[in-house]
Amino acid sequence: MKSVRIEQMLKIMRNKKHIRNVGVIAHIDHGKTTLTDLLLAEAGLIPYSLAGEARVLDYLEEEQKRGITIKAANISLMYRVGGEDYVVNLIDTPGHVDFTGRVTRALRNIDGAIVLVDAVEEIMAQTEVVTRQALNERVKPILFINKVDRLISELKLTIEEIQAKILRIIREFNNLIELYCEPPFRDEWKISASKGNVILGSALHKWGLIIEPTKKRGIKFRDIIEEYCHGDLRSLQEMIPLHKAILETIIRELPSPAEAQRYRIPKIWRGNLETEIGKAMIECDPNGPTTICVTNVKRDPKDGLIATGRIFSGEVEEGDQVHLLGAKRDCIVRQVSIYMGAFRENSGRLDSGNIVALSGLEPIIAGETIIDAAYKEYMMPFEEIKYVSNPVITVSIEPKDPRDLTRLIDALNLLSIEDPNLTVTINKETGEYLLSGIGELHLDIAIKTLKEYDANLEVIVSKPIVAYRESVGRSGNIVAAKSPNGLNQISVKVEPLEKDLLKMFWEKCEMSKLLAELEISIEGAGRILDVDSDGNVLTDLTGRDFAHEDLDAIISGFRWACRSGPLCGEPLMGVKVNLIDANLADEQNLRGHAQIMPAVRKAIFGSFLTANPILLEPIYSIQISVPVEYVGGVINLVVKKRGKISSVTQRGFLSVVDGFIPVAESLGLADEIRSVSSGRAFWQNIFSRWEKVPDDHASKIICSIRLRKGLSAEAPKIDVS
Ligand code: GDP
Repeated sequence: MKSVRIEQMLKIMRNKKHIRNVGVIAHIDHGKTTLTDLLLAEAGLIPYSLAGEARVLDYLEEEQKRGITIKAANISLMYRVGGEDYVVNLIDTPGHVDFTGRVTRALRNIDGAIVLVDAVEEIMAQTEVVTRQALNERVKPILFINKVDRLISELKLTIEEIQAKILRIIREFNNLIELYCEPPFRDEWKISASKGNVILGSALHKWGLIIEPTKKRGIKFRDIIEEYCHGDLRSLQEMIPLHKAILETIIRELPSPAEAQRYRIPKIWRGNLETEIGKAMIECDPNGPTTICVTNVKRDPKDGLIATGRIFSGEVEEGDQVHLLGAKRDCIVRQVSIYMGAFRENSGRLDSGNIVALSGLEPIIAGETIIDAAYKEYMMPFEEIKYVSNPVITVSIEPKDPRDLTRLIDALNLLSIEDPNLTVTINKETGEYLLSGIGELHLDIAIKTLKEYDANLEVIVSKPIVAYRESVGRSGNIVAAKSPNGLNQISVKVEPLEKDLLKMFWEKCEMSKLLAELEISIEGAGRILDVDSDGNVLTDLTGRDFAHEDLDAIISGFRWACRSGPLCGEPLMGVKVNLIDANLADEQNLRGHAQIMPAVRKAIFGSFLTANPILLEPIYSIQISVPVEYVGGVINLVVKKRGKISSVTQRGFLSVVDGFIPVAESLGLADEIRSVSSGRAFWQNIFSRWEKVPDDHASKIICSIRLRKGLSAEAPKIDVS
């Protein structure tokens, strides 16, 4: 049964001009949760008196503890302006940098953003990073300057000083628009008091003032200061309630999906705009083919995996057959619902321009594109889903009580579905479960989330380990190796994969697809027998016809060698193995996998060690924003960590340092950056590339990895015989 409220909301949602999809963007601690709770209270979802304390959107315990929002949660609010009803879908966007994929996806859902800035701290680096991302997705901003009460009662600034501060924030914000906004929108989207798109206020004390129009109504800033002198906050809340200022400005200043999709679709979708699908999305047409961009996937204990996303065209109804473009699979929608804070309400159906929650589509991952099954041949994805991400930091994880292993595996599986940037592997030799992610904090949070799924599951987690790769610097010798029974002999020659090919592989992440797409035939390479996900290639130069089983054994030997190299048991990367010859025993029972695989591996390792073996390490690109006075300390720290600085630019009172740093040196960096900048730096890093470890450093690392894995300290010697 649908509630009257939902019925009413669904009716409004059919009118595309009466929908607003918006998000709040803010630096940590500037007051996003307090504002969101206030709006939840306005929607009747939590008691008004609890707003600011309940922090309902941060419903994960972990988020409460850390005070940061990790997972996006959404609410739909109804509001009446000028006698007309509107629905405001408020999408919670995470602000933390390790999750930029999530931020970008959440931004895909919204057409407008409330950029919330703390009046005391002013615009901080994180405000800048996320505003830049929003402008890049053609999301229109308005500005809310929060915590103005602190200027009055704590800092005791004069009206002139407050005015100067507000003007500086507006000027800084317009500088961001000037820097990052595309020309057609640049001037139109700049904010100013006269346009009525700047709000001043206090989320904590629940009042807000739209600068210009309120002035017309005769409420002056001086009046607000007076109220503070009398300690009469209630009358302020009644006179100029914050939710009213925010919701009215959203509805007046931010675009509806009907308006926004016209200019946003050409930016966020690479398909042909002249096709039926293209036109339907541009028009936000509810009668067109169904297209949905999935921005978040989360488990619900009752309903299984819930996929949240934006409907760009068409409608979706329970029982519909849809197609998942990335997974290449048809499935039936079980349930269609809309969000009410941490909860969902069944809506049965929903159409274009809205944010929908769907169940019944598992397995499904964030970033997926859903399309009307009848149109699957004609759709282009919104996002290239990279199933192979770059998880460069790993922890091993085991249950405290070995009997909990199945529970741990279930929880790990779920974790990797909800967050495609995490991978779970099993170390076959040790039986350890390994969880890999893109950074230290990423893994930290993942492990806390694990406990969310299964509160009683206690786990032991190792210290983070950085992933390395083994590769070669030049062509090696031809090396022959015999099988254990001495009756089979395999000869191979190892060489580096061409640089260009490897670079393309890193960009595209999937070598076999790349080779097929480009129809690449490596010069003199003969037949390509196998390629793996780390860009290793096996080619056959023997010109022989192998029996199917022998070929399978040779390929298995190649994969075995690639999984764990001779230097320190790390995977190989960018290695081309040429099979030069294979003398196999005549009788089948003397060949087989148990004979051929070890011979192949031994030959590969032998040739590898003559080919100038090298160790590769993952490198982050790093960006640090810091007040000018701390920039020297930050640069010294990066350089001390074997990092390189590529540029230092000035943005108002901040310096932005761009550079690169080895992932291994980034462990624990957060504390060090905090200490050299008195906690004033804001930084983020993302995987950039693999790079050769300098020779003097490599032997130390190889030795420590070998010891960790229970191998002898010395790497095997080069055997040129
Ligand atoms: P978030 O990290 O952006 O979600 O920030 P929160 O909403 O958790 O707020 C961070 C802190 O600032 C909390 O202690 C809030 O009570 C406080 N805060 C939020 N808004 C205001 C405000 O308008 N005035 C004052 N004085 N404090 C505020």
